[in-house]
Amino acid sequence: MPHSRPDPQTPAPAKPNGRGLIRNLVLALLGAATISLALAPTAAGATNWESIDRLRLLLKRAGVQVVQRDCGQRGLQGLYNHGSDTIVICRVHNSPQAVWNTLAHEATHRMQACRGGAITDSTYHRSMAQSLARRSPEDLASLRLYPARERAGELEARYTAQLPPSQVIQLFERYCG
Ligand SMILES: [Zn+2]
Repeated sequence: MPHSRPDPQTPAPAKPNGRGLIRNLVLALLGAATISLALAPTAAGATNWESIDRLRLLLKRAGVQVVQRDCGQRGLQGLYNHGSDTIVICRVHNSPQAVWNTLAHEATHRMQACRGGAITDSTYHRSMAQSLARRSPEDLASLRLYPARERAGELEARYTAQLPPSQVIQLFERYCG
């Protein structure tokens, strides 16, 4: 699914990553009981290339092609193509954090494909939207650009991309490992 935001040129400002917020985010994920709750908050901006490489390796092992290219569509940052099982990272990112966000977002769409549908229970979606509104309001606002039937999947992808990388990697292993 295409992943776009209204204004991709403006990186999201770094925000404090509260322990409580992360706990709420993780608790809302299906099967959270099996995920470690020893949550070391990861400061926004702390994403490094190591996390990106780790997730890329997991994706590759699962058979997903990850490619970079000039997408040429305003606002488009990445996409996941189900048919070819390919994640495209558009050449629009200007920090590892931004690359991570797009990779984690598109990897969530692959998790949805592995599971054959949503990875969260719909009863959690309201609280997920509220958490996202606090942490990344522009991400929540961009959901309006999508048809109604895609919004739950896009909410999951945006929400998951805000989790600490270790949690995203655990989720990927859980659903696609
Ligand atoms: Zn998406």
